[in-house]
Amino acid sequence: MMPKMRAAQITRSGGPFELVEREIPSPGAGQIRIKVQACGICHSDSLVKEGHWPGIQYPRVPGHEVVGVVDAVGAGVTQWQPGQRVGVGWHGGHCGHCNNCRNGDFFGCTVNLQITGISFDGGYAEYMIAPAIAVALVPDDLSPVEAAPLMCAGITTYNALRNSGARPGELVAVQGLGGLGHLGVQYAVKMGFKTVAIARGPDKAPLAQKLGAWRYLDSQAQDPSAELQKLGGAKTILATVTAGDAMSAVQGGLGVNGTMLLIGAAMSMQVNPIFLLSGRRSVKGWYSGTAADSQDTLAFSVLAGVRSMNEVYPLEKAAEAYDRMRSGKARFRVVLKMGL
Ligand SMILES: [Zn+2]
Ligand SMILES: [Zn+2]
Repeated sequence: MMPKMRAAQITRSGGPFELVEREIPSPGAGQIRIKVQACGICHSDSLVKEGHWPGIQYPRVPGHEVVGVVDAVGAGVTQWQPGQRVGVGWHGGHCGHCNNCRNGDFFGCTVNLQITGISFDGGYAEYMIAPAIAVALVPDDLSPVEAAPLMCAGITTYNALRNSGARPGELVAVQGLGGLGHLGVQYAVKMGFKTVAIARGPDKAPLAQKLGAWRYLDSQAQDPSAELQKLGGAKTILATVTAGDAMSAVQGGLGVNGTMLLIGAAMSMQVNPIFLLSGRRSVKGWYSGTAADSQDTLAFSVLAGVRSMNEVYPLEKAAEAYDRMRSGKARFRVVLKMGL
């Protein structure tokens, strides 16, 4: 009898979560096995649930905010040993030899770009297999539940902000105060930016203040673009929302040479070319990052005291936890904890 594990899998596009028993998989060459301790639930997991990722194969176990302990290593793996605490995020591996990889743009790999929980089974399970190249070291100072959401929501906001070109003291706006935004505001504050949080409604103001924001803009009561211009214009606007019209409504707050960084998966937005070109402004997307960026995110979060606020569920309640994430009411990330 092979030892068994539990996993929450999706068997067909649009199908429900099914709690199944599977054999515990063995790591192949270049892979490690992780005994999962916690896995965050990300909005992008809907790509697996609803079948919106081209070519996805079922059954599939979602989950790309994984934290656990190295349990076994495959042939040729020299950098990881059993017992180390590790995490895996969205970026699940790359070929290392295509032109983009040779230039260090691993996210743009054209030969073998792997995505955790989409190209291979992810962390809604008691064990998972990950390519050794996709794994980040997790500091002892972070509990599994604390670290898990940092593997996607954390790295995406932190890595976008640190590559935004904004310098300490400059005006940076974070649009949205949900799972991504509540981390984005904390990172922006701790990086020394003059941080403006933008969300809908007056009830979010105390949260913005608690997260350390310098100002809060209620986009229902005020025109966020005009207000940002009154403050001198933003060097960076980090858009974490998923509504294109909301994104379009804040771009006018960019200062000269300002950049709007899009990390929310909206289908479309409007840009104003004259406004962009006259102030040498730009609108660009940002990819979360690779394992090294994850490791930096975790280390900075320990250093600066940045933490996600989480709602925690056991693995067997994966369906309920997923619905909670989809409801938009979770404060602020939903995390599965094994052995709960
Ligand atoms: Zn994600
Ligand atoms: Zn490549």
